[in-house]
Amino acid sequence: MFESLTDRLSQVFQRLRGKGFLTQADVDQGLREIREVLLAADVHHAVVAELLARVRERAVGEKLVESLSPAQQLLAIVRQEMAKIMGGEAQKLKLSGKPAVVMLVGPAGGGKTTTAGKLAQYLRKRGRKPLLVSADPERPAAAEQLQTLAQKIGIAFASADQEPPKQVPKILAQAKKDLIDVAILDTPGTPPGLPPPPFLGELLREVKPSDVLLVLDALVGQEAIRLGQAFLPLGLSGIVLTKLDGDARGGAALSLPSRLRLPIVFVGVGERPEDLEPFDPGRMADRILGLGDLSGLVEKLQEAGVAAKAEKILKEGEFTLEDFLAQLEAVRRAGPLGQLLSRLPGFARPEEDEVEKEFKRMKAIIQSMTVEERRNPHIIGASRKRRIAKGSGTTVQEVNRLLAEYEQAKKLLKGLKHGKIQGGKSPFLR
Ligand code: GDP
Ligand code: MG
Repeated sequence: MFESLTDRLSQVFQRLRGKGFLTQADVDQGLREIREVLLAADVHHAVVAELLARVRERAVGEKLVESLSPAQQLLAIVRQEMAKIMGGEAQKLKLSGKPAVVMLVGPAGGGKTTTAGKLAQYLRKRGRKPLLVSADPERPAAAEQLQTLAQKIGIAFASADQEPPKQVPKILAQAKKDLIDVAILDTPGTPPGLPPPPFLGELLREVKPSDVLLVLDALVGQEAIRLGQAFLPLGLSGIVLTKLDGDARGGAALSLPSRLRLPIVFVGVGERPEDLEPFDPGRMADRILGLGDLSGLVEKLQEAGVAAKAEKILKEGEFTLEDFLAQLEAVRRAGPLGQLLSRLPGFARPEEDEVEKEFKRMKAIIQSMTVEERRNPHIIGASRKRRIAKGSGTTVQEVNRLLAEYEQAKKLLKGLKHGKIQGGKSPFLR
């Protein structure tokens, strides 16, 4: 996700990091480069302008914090303003009503039907009892597609294929009796750019969903703004941005919230029913900036039923080499490995084979340490390093690298715990 954007932004900050201090000219140059990168990533020009204006104002106005280098501070400001541009706070579904009704609308092919299934599974995992409803009076195949999906994931299904505005209320009344607490309505899309099917307005008035989500495909970039605008008159509550797994640019994610004045609530990251994630602007900014995404990782690991320890680590800030190994192990088992590892700092998008080799090496190194060394890595001096390298069939350099990776992960965890970045004392980050 966002590979090209992240790569290029990392390069900009890498260059700035090389400097001991930043002059005004350095900052200007940095911002110019960021501007080019964002425009090339297909971010809407007005969004780019607003983002950079806010960053510039703060970069010039705010007092330097001693524990952060100027480049880190600029990065921190960019991170925070980027998160704000994407809506600031994560938004949850309202899910009010008995049953609560979530309606999915959007242009054809955006991913509504797929998202309906994902959302049903997501809500069921969180203790809800969902019903999938197909409301498409035109295409019988549409109802079939959703029904097949519902069967596959074991979710109740109903079809309103004649006059949805009349049928859906009846289906909901029955659902209430069946103790269904959330109904997810899949609707037909129109060809991209055309206004929504006329019956949708009537359906909305009859059903009054607590959540009306606009489903848009990230791969169309900022064109998604125009596609989405056609649906605004319906009265929407949020966006589901799909196909982020294939989006190297990030233009839609950065542009949509401010251009449509709607929060992104979920993102689709693949075709499988489990490939749906809640959207968190701060975390997304971290990802875009290549800062890793440990809190997202923790959530993924919990869902995969592994690494219960990760949360404890985040809470208590204790992080030994044993924890580090447990975390690496859990990450590896949770697979698809590359996808997960790419969120850990120090693991920028490696090749799958390389990851496996690297993991084995790291494991061997940690296992060659004594228990005491694993718990108190600071006692590992030169002679211990030589012993560990020998015992694990690696080199002292590799032992050093592992210790550095560990330190980096630890710093980041501490930073997360205190709402700061890389352990620095930034007042900008929350
Ligand atoms: P609809 O016309 O809006 O109902 O769109 P569909 O749900 O039928 O999806 C259209 C295509 O996009 C299907 O082939 C889906 O598998 C695919 N799709 C939907 N969401 C995602 C996603 O998050 N990632 C990827 N890679 N494909 C997706
Ligand atoms: Mg569909």
